[in-house]
Amino acid sequence: MSQPPSASPLPFVDLAAQRARLGPAVDQAIARVLEHGRFIMGPEVARLEQVLARFCGARHAIACASGTDALLLGLLALETGPGDAVIVPAFTFAATAEAVALLGATPVFVDIDPVSFCLEPTGLEPAIALARSHGLRPRGVIPVDLFGQPCAYPAIEEIAARHGLWLLADAAQSFGARFGARAVGTIGRATATSFFPAKPLGCYGDGGAILTDDDALAATCRSLRVHGQGTDKYDNARIGLNARLDTLQAAILLEKLAIFPDEIERRNAVAQRYTEALAPVVRSPKVDVGNTSVWAQYTIVLEAGRRDQVAADLKAAGVPTAVYYPRPLHRQTAYRSYPVAGPKGRLPVSEAMAAQVLSLPMHPYLSATDQNRVVAALTRACRAGAGP
Ligand SMILES: *Cc1c(COP(=O)(O)O)cnc(C)c1O
Repeated sequence: MSQPPSASPLPFVDLAAQRARLGPAVDQAIARVLEHGRFIMGPEVARLEQVLARFCGARHAIACASGTDALLLGLLALETGPGDAVIVPAFTFAATAEAVALLGATPVFVDIDPVSFCLEPTGLEPAIALARSHGLRPRGVIPVDLFGQPCAYPAIEEIAARHGLWLLADAAQSFGARFGARAVGTIGRATATSFFPAKPLGCYGDGGAILTDDDALAATCRSLRVHGQGTDKYDNARIGLNARLDTLQAAILLEKLAIFPDEIERRNAVAQRYTEALAPVVRSPKVDVGNTSVWAQYTIVLEAGRRDQVAADLKAAGVPTAVYYPRPLHRQTAYRSYPVAGPKGRLPVSEAMAAQVLSLPMHPYLSATDQNRVVAALTRACRAGAGP
């Protein structure tokens, strides 16, 4: 028998399937922008901001050029600078700590919870004490909703409030998720999200947004996004950035938002199928009770020392995988000198997860047939190394 067509490698994220579903809508939206020619801050940007704000229930959405710029805008608006300490988890994408360090403030690294992969709230008070011992002013926390699930916000909020710290949520992976009755985008002083193509809501380039209920903070972010402009175009009120979202990307996002709720449902169905099928095989991710996830990644935890072989076996079976993240931030060259709130400068959970996690193909268009192929290959790979 010839090879079944399904033997060709699966995509990790299938943007082509999404594009096929969207049909001509995106092309037409792009064509409209080309026609009106308002490429910078065109009408689609303002419309997108309204739709984003309504989608999550935030008072304000400020579109910007990337998730990293959203973090920067938030930190700038909160007047973060030298002498300030901002607590960030070590197990995240570099941008979370980079935005802090770029402004001359000091990221203080804390560990994560091994089940949710999100910031462990009990690490906050030791981090606050550590920041003070370094002569720094603890100012805020950037909780990261890693892999699509919101953090343990009530515990984080309680500790932050007690110490007068703000929360700037890094929701680059979780826009569209909910924490109980609250939607991501309405938690903390402000929320930063990303529209990088592979995020749950992605555009066709770089993009991001900051969401907040705080009128003054929103106005400051709007000014900062355009070089700190004031009411007089040639009298800048503050030092800012060029961090606008392109009109073309806004037009694309408006089309993608129309199918986003359905895509979130599909992502959850895919995750549930994985979890049921993989329960006897590996430790699969758990979403806390009352939480929902948008499943930016479906990340399993393998036994120590098994990952390279399992990933190689899966690759041979045409199943791509990815490691998010192989090196926690406190172990990366650029971030080694920042304070680490852990025993002897270690963050044991972040370090263990960096060595053991593996993310599987995850997107709304993953068919049951293709998913069975992932499950079968993973089951074989795990049993192969499991010993007698
Ligand atoms: C993707 C990501 C960012 C940065 O977003 P960009 O749009 O790529 O700048 C920040 N934080 C986390 C957790 C991310 O996953």
